Amino acid sequence: MVAKEPSANQTPAPRADAVPKDAAAVVLVRGEGEGSEVYWARRGERMAFLGGFYAFPGGQRDAADGETPVDSCDDAELAAMISCAARELFEETGVLAARGADSLTRGQIDSLLDDLSSERMTFAVLLAHYGLRLDARDFTFVGRWVTPPFSPRRFDTLFFLVRCPRKQEPRVRTVEFDEGGWTNARAAYGLWLRSEILVAPPVLHAIKTLADGAADAPDDLVRRFLSVPQARRERVRRIEFTPGFTCFPVRTPTKPPATHTNAYVIGHEDFVVVDPGSPYEDEQAALAEYVDELIAGGRALREIVLTHHHPDHVAGVEPLRAHLGGGVRVAAHRLTADALADSVRVDRFIEEGDRVELAGEPSLRLRAMHTPGHTRGHLSFYEERTQTLVVGDNIVGLGSVLIEPPEGSVRDYLASLGRYRQLLPDVRVLFGGHGAAMANPRAKIEEYIAHRLEREANILKAVREGASTPREIVGRVYTDVSVKLHAMAERAVLAHLEKLEEDALVSRAGEGRYAATGAATS
Ligand SMILES: [Zn+2]
Repeated sequence: MVAKEPSANQTPAPRADAVPKDAAAVVLVRGEGEGSEVYWARRGERMAFLGGFYAFPGGQRDAADGETPVDSCDDAELAAMISCAARELFEETGVLAARGADSLTRGQIDSLLDDLSSERMTFAVLLAHYGLRLDARDFTFVGRWVTPPFSPRRFDTLFFLVRCPRKQEPRVRTVEFDEGGWTNARAAYGLWLRSEILVAPPVLHAIKTLADGAADAPDDLVRRFLSVPQARRERVRRIEFTPGFTCFPVRTPTKPPATHTNAYVIGHEDFVVVDPGSPYEDEQAALAEYVDELIAGGRALREIVLTHHHPDHVAGVEPLRAHLGGGVRVAAHRLTADALADSVRVDRFIEEGDRVELAGEPSLRLRAMHTPGHTRGHLSFYEERTQTLVVGDNIVGLGSVLIEPPEGSVRDYLASLGRYRQLLPDVRVLFGGHGAAMANPRAKIEEYIAHRLEREANILKAVREGASTPREIVGRVYTDVSVKLHAMAERAVLAHLEKLEEDALVSRAGEGRYAATGAATS
């Protein structure tokens, strides 16, 4: 994505980040010591928020959560969040963590769940009806995490450790999850270390904490859960979605709904910084501090790598280089270097098929792919061992990608998406220029291709039905896009018309006007 180019001395003020919504999640455990297990589930491939990620049961607070009485708790807010946690756990897994529930039959629990999900009764009414009580002592607070502002869907989530009540067995009860099950925390952490799964930072922290010693005294376990400042609402800045790939979102004047651009720090010993894009000094300083820390720890910055030339991806390059004493090389595609001739010095060209070898334990090898479409010089990077694909702005974790002439080309873009598709099934994760990592590469890539082809078909149909200018076409086709974004949509339509013209399906019919060609004309 790219915002309107800021003039040299006037960087636009950052837009407000999305306000986090209250939510609660449950770290459901069973068993003791080494043999203890935690329940997790994989979010559906097609979920817009963290699709394909492993997660704990949980969700957003609803208005009625404050109505449920909670014993042993004199804080009304905490009580509402415990009620939210219990309700979400029940709705999503069928586990009812209420006192008295062990006297219910499976059939009664099922009918209770049915009454709740059909909204015949609120959770509070149901509990009262069956004489059940929530008790705060069954919900151990183990952290409060806030989704970083790089996502337009943000949650301020309270995590509670809950022992699975005897005789109850969790089972996926929601379309949000594809599958779920008990896992030993050490095994779960092992899956993450081998880059086989993706989890959000609080879930990673939880499985790590449990893996490090679930046998500890309960107080000790809670202390370790709360030992990181992010578990006490401090901002999560470094998101290690998969080992060796740390996402460091920085605030940028980018295109809505994004407010941030992802910089990536990739590598274990040798590392590269990809797309340091913030023009804001505080954000540049935060990234520089992280890089300093890595270097102080004995790691070596190989170079700064650019996916493409848009200002929201490169505005922090020269400041970072200057901060590091000027000696760091910048590498990009030749066409990106050309586009940046006046603002960023590119020292090394990266071409299709080039490899960036990063020594370390384990080593990483990024294979460059020239993937034009969003811009002519756009690069992507594929890492074979971790099956990771860095896709820059060709696919993003939120919003959609703008393809506009003259840099953007729908034909090239579809070809680049087609190359990503060819890499499947050897891709586990996509790292985009904005938003969270994507643990559902197949669904994402197919969705992007389908979306583009559908737009093209609709634009062609609009022209065949008589719409002749980009404005008229936008009016008919972009009915899902707010009027504020219509100017941007018109440029996207132009990119499509360019391809349709090359395909000889439309032709120019005078100044800024287009007409359908061939037999299909109505
Ligand atoms: Zn861009």
